[in-house]
Amino acid sequence: MMAQRKPAQGRKASKGYLRAKRLAAKAHAKVARQRQDTACKWAKRGVRDHDAIAAEDFKPKFLARSTMARKAADAAIGATKHALVEMGRKHGRDVRLVHPAHTTMDCGWCGARAKHRLPLSERTYTCTACGVSRPRDKNSAHVVLVRAGLGPAGVEGARPGRPRDARAA
Ligand SMILES: [Zn+2]
Repeated sequence: MMAQRKPAQGRKASKGYLRAKRLAAKAHAKVARQRQDTACKWAKRGVRDHDAIAAEDFKPKFLARSTMARKAADAAIGATKHALVEMGRKHGRDVRLVHPAHTTMDCGWCGARAKHRLPLSERTYTCTACGVSRPRDKNSAHVVLVRAGLGPAGVEGARPGRPRDARAA
């Protein structure tokens, strides 16, 4: 609507243009509120269920420069991280941020670093040093935990409200 009503160079903006501009601003404000709301609810769930949380100290700029920029902006990863840190502080939880480099390349079990970057399509991480093979995200999560200095023992499959050995059955 703004593009259609765009005033010619040097001309005053029409009423229609200003109305469209207000609508656009409203829509953007709404999206921002929705992102904030989602981030808060997600962070709240995280700190409610866990005493200690390790997260990647993610730099949003890194994704903003990639081909996933739009998706990254939509997920508002930076704001989400901020919400998690704030919520953790508010509820006295141990939130640790770790350096984000090589979290997908390192092995979460033996600490060896893969020689090559894992393409995004490759969903399974297989360690060349110790031979462990895990889902990519799970391996990264493990690396983050180890880096934060939180003992990963007993973390496997630890979900609140669910018995530990339900997973094996
Ligand atoms: Zn390994």
